[in-house]
Amino acid sequence: MRRLRGTAGLAVAGLLAVAPLAACTSSQSSSEAPASSSSAPPASGAPAVEAVEPDLALAESTPREDSLYPSVGHPDVDALLYDLDLDWAPTSRTLTGTATLTFRAARDTRAFRLDLADALDVESVTLDGEDASYAHRSKDLVVRSPITEGDRHELVVEYSGSPRPEPAPTTRSDFSEVGFTVTERGEVWTMQEPYGAYSWYPVNDQPSDKALYDITVTVPSPWTGVANGRLVSTENSSQEGEDLTTTRWQLDEPASSYLVTLAIGDYAHRSNSSTSGVGIDYWIPRGLPMAYDDLKVAAKAVDWIEQRLGPYPFSTLGLVLTDSQSAMETQTMVTLGNNEYVRSAPVVLHELVHQWYGDQVSPADWSDVWLNEGMTMLMQALYEADRGGYDVEAQISQWRAQDQQLRDQYGPPGDYDPRQFGGSNIYYSPAVMWDELRRELGDEAFFEIARSWLTDHDNSSVTRQQAFDHWEAETGLELSAFFDAWITGSRTPPKGLIGS
Ligand SMILES: [Zn+2]
Repeated sequence: MRRLRGTAGLAVAGLLAVAPLAACTSSQSSSEAPASSSSAPPASGAPAVEAVEPDLALAESTPREDSLYPSVGHPDVDALLYDLDLDWAPTSRTLTGTATLTFRAARDTRAFRLDLADALDVESVTLDGEDASYAHRSKDLVVRSPITEGDRHELVVEYSGSPRPEPAPTTRSDFSEVGFTVTERGEVWTMQEPYGAYSWYPVNDQPSDKALYDITVTVPSPWTGVANGRLVSTENSSQEGEDLTTTRWQLDEPASSYLVTLAIGDYAHRSNSSTSGVGIDYWIPRGLPMAYDDLKVAAKAVDWIEQRLGPYPFSTLGLVLTDSQSAMETQTMVTLGNNEYVRSAPVVLHELVHQWYGDQVSPADWSDVWLNEGMTMLMQALYEADRGGYDVEAQISQWRAQDQQLRDQYGPPGDYDPRQFGGSNIYYSPAVMWDELRRELGDEAFFEIARSWLTDHDNSSVTRQQAFDHWEAETGLELSAFFDAWITGSRTPPKGLIGS
């Protein structure tokens, strides 16, 4: 998730006067590969690529109850594959869905729960092909079937309704709701951190439970539904005189539910690639073709990140532009809002860095979202320094100077007020911490360890203790006082704690 431009409650005037988030994209020269362009999705009936057999073992995880948002997500269920078949009618604003969830029972229980908003009506539930007894109250879908730890099951939920976003646990000004959002014209976008996937499908909506996805979306032509992963087919059909377009997307590496995206609108498709060969798809509203000139910087940004964090971790990459005012690192398909700042190179870079720090390796608990944002803010600052006109040392000093105020306002980055999700404390304070370690170790050693952290924990959700252990083992330094002071301390840590 991007850092909100401006101060988000910072009272120190001028503190962010040279903040790294100034939009400055349109003047950047670009020399990436020539863009291909097509004004319509691939031809009807022609699969873009072969669908693959999902590797369910990749998605086995250890679900947990969240320490900050315990009412969302349920540790009885280890979701492996969400197969979602969705129809969207923009005029009536009706979503009709069949969700087929393949899951592993994570423990013995007489009944298990998923999250599903009460704006959606459940029409039927089957477990392993048999009708199942269920109750749907508030956002809890309870299935009254006993399950035994380790067994695999297939749950099918048929549902429909008019989804609406849910209140977000935050005081940020750039978003107050999460989940399925509909524009006046019936277009759709979803941003759902820290939760809110349950506003449009039944889900174990907590980040420790990563799963694979296979999402099929049917919308009126010429609109297109865009989701995570690889576009495996686009088909046109007609029903009761209405032309429809059905796209199928397959995500072959597991994602936490907050990283899942669905965007529906009148999209044109373009593409380019990084020098290293990462192909990037751009889904841009047909009425905003000039937006591509801003977003194509993603190709060079990927090269810049790969030089530091290693190869792009997934098999596909795309960006989709929506009517939101924010930006979100949805896995393999970054969701961007439509304003000049959100489309700027630093924000595009920020969401791309999250593909490594946040998506490839995700926090198992929302108290550790600083693991995503601290490293990403440091990378963003270094990127902006490389682009010129920006003194990273001065910037880090400013962030250090504001740290106490952030701790006072939001709490420590690893022990924040859950009603203030996404506060500035989870961004700037851990960025300063990582920068102190970078200066101690030097760039070469620092980034080598930053890369081995990712490869050691590929496709998993992690805890802060795992991160602390990794950095201590790889540096040979005593870092517990340093990490504890930065992540859970109530005062800005003094310098010189590394190795103490
Ligand atoms: Zn972020």
